[in-house]
Amino acid sequence: MNNLQVKQAILDKIKSYDRIIVSRHFRPDGDAIGSTKGFTRMLQLTFPEKEIYLINEDYSDYLAFLGGEDEQIADELYKDALAIVLDTGSMDRFSNKKVTLAKEIIKIDHHIPIAPYGDISWVEELRSSTCEMVVDFYKTFKDELKFDKLCATYVYTGMVTDSGRFRFRDVSSETLINASIMLGFGIDTETLYANLYLEDFEYIKFKGEITNKISITENGVAYLIIDKATQEKFNLTSEQASACISFMDSIKGSLIWLAFIENKDGSTRVRLRSRFLACNELGEKYRGGGHAQAAGATCYSDEEIQSLINDADKLLGEFKKNNGGWL
Ligand code: AMP
Repeated sequence: MNNLQVKQAILDKIKSYDRIIVSRHFRPDGDAIGSTKGFTRMLQLTFPEKEIYLINEDYSDYLAFLGGEDEQIADELYKDALAIVLDTGSMDRFSNKKVTLAKEIIKIDHHIPIAPYGDISWVEELRSSTCEMVVDFYKTFKDELKFDKLCATYVYTGMVTDSGRFRFRDVSSETLINASIMLGFGIDTETLYANLYLEDFEYIKFKGEITNKISITENGVAYLIIDKATQEKFNLTSEQASACISFMDSIKGSLIWLAFIENKDGSTRVRLRSRFLACNELGEKYRGGGHAQAAGATCYSDEEIQSLINDADKLLGEFKKNNGGWL
């Protein structure tokens, strides 16, 4: 099936169910929350006679301004329901584990597929965000679907955050056309950007201190290790600690940068970013995955952390040896 046929199959499926449950990946970012909220609202506006829920088990504090989600429903209500999971590459990343109880599952996603799932799967890994796919879905069936300013605000949030404010490589002319359609709904971007990007003064002080702790390997891999003690010292949520990945995103010659954030259970969340070369296979080697230039992984010991840093250094060394033209 080509993309148009897949989208048609998804719309047909939606029409054929009375109960639909929308979900996403855990530890959600702007794209996961924006795409699910936007898609859910679009369905609710279009099909008011259907039961449509947005159900997950976690949320992200920094996106609380977008509002909440629905409470969990009884297991038996899943049996004759359609589940639609957005922005989630593999089933082990489901935020709502009960999705597997649904009669059928639809996947809509832009991650590199390493563990496919879903009775219908629409994956476009070159899209800059899943939110962009929601716009594309809306555009395709514009005559049948209802959309409003709030849908547009949700979806635009994911487009902006997942594309690094329209800077990343996957941003295409179509991305900007899609963004333009969303802006056409009259989004209040000043309020949106204030919610997304203003920081507490305490956090800015943490940023200053932590920036001094960035290490750089021989070949230019920048990294930060934020252990539990540091998180406690600055009274940080793990979400705030994880945001330190962005402190390293503009160092000349550092084409790979890594943040290691110790979890409560002693394991370590790894965030990988790169420019000019890909880092997703490195993430996959350490139980992760994601996109070519933005991936995640998990480490279980200091040795594993060091081994990942060494692998990244080797990868970057090889890349620099064989390529020029980067800054
Ligand atoms: P993050 O650093 O958590 O923002 O992740 C970057 C990208 O990689 C996001 O698109 C995530 O959905 C994806 N990702 C993060 N961790 C994993 C993982 N363990 N397995 C697969 N994909 C992941």
